[in-house]
Amino acid sequence: MITLALSKGRIFDDILPLLTAAGIEVLDDPEKSRKLILDTNQPDLRVVLVRATDVPTYVQYGGADLGVVGKDTLLESGSLGLYQPLDLQIAKCRISVAVRQGFDYAAAVKQGSRLRVATKYVAIARDFFATKGVHVDLIKLYGSMELAPLTGLADAIVDLVSTGNTLKANHLVEVETIMDISSHLVVNQTALKLKHEPIRKLIDAFSQTLAQSATA
Ligand code: AMP
Repeated sequence: MITLALSKGRIFDDILPLLTAAGIEVLDDPEKSRKLILDTNQPDLRVVLVRATDVPTYVQYGGADLGVVGKDTLLESGSLGLYQPLDLQIAKCRISVAVRQGFDYAAAVKQGSRLRVATKYVAIARDFFATKGVHVDLIKLYGSMELAPLTGLADAIVDLVSTGNTLKANHLVEVETIMDISSHLVVNQTALKLKHEPIRKLIDAFSQTLAQSATA
């Protein structure tokens, strides 16, 4: 049995076409069912639904053989011991710095003032501002980062941006892109040895579909 860890939402929706191309159909819709273990049309492949930030942990400790996880989560929570064979080019977005409309970010950075930055991505933000030589006080948040500059909790946020609509709706502007993000396939190293053939087959099927869509 091969166990694939996925998170609900963007990653689940975006991986479906890749699974279909590999001949795999997930037999339950996670938006309609409360099941956490989903069967597929392949008797030896099942999907487990876990929180995005838990995917690396499940794969690292063998609760799942492989998983799909955003680069943001891999960089933030660590990817120790995980084999990362493929950038799946799905759930694409970017991680950016945003501030309240009217806040002079360039001047604040230039003057060397100490910026207060609210984010879920403390490690990514710390590295980014350290490289720029900007002093920051980081405030860890778990949700709705957009609220922080609006309430005076922080001068800036570091968050994922896709269309930019969420920022716009909250009168925030993106001032710097830190990096582009997409989701990657991660594999447990022991599973790769013990279940080499079925895992390799899955990786090859995904690679083939990605190569085809790159040339299409
Ligand atoms: P948008 O309004 O399209 O820019 O999306 C921004 C909101 O969606 C923010 O709350 C982000 O945290 C979240 N978001 C955007 N892209 C992703 C992604 N690929 N994975 C998870 N969350 C995302």
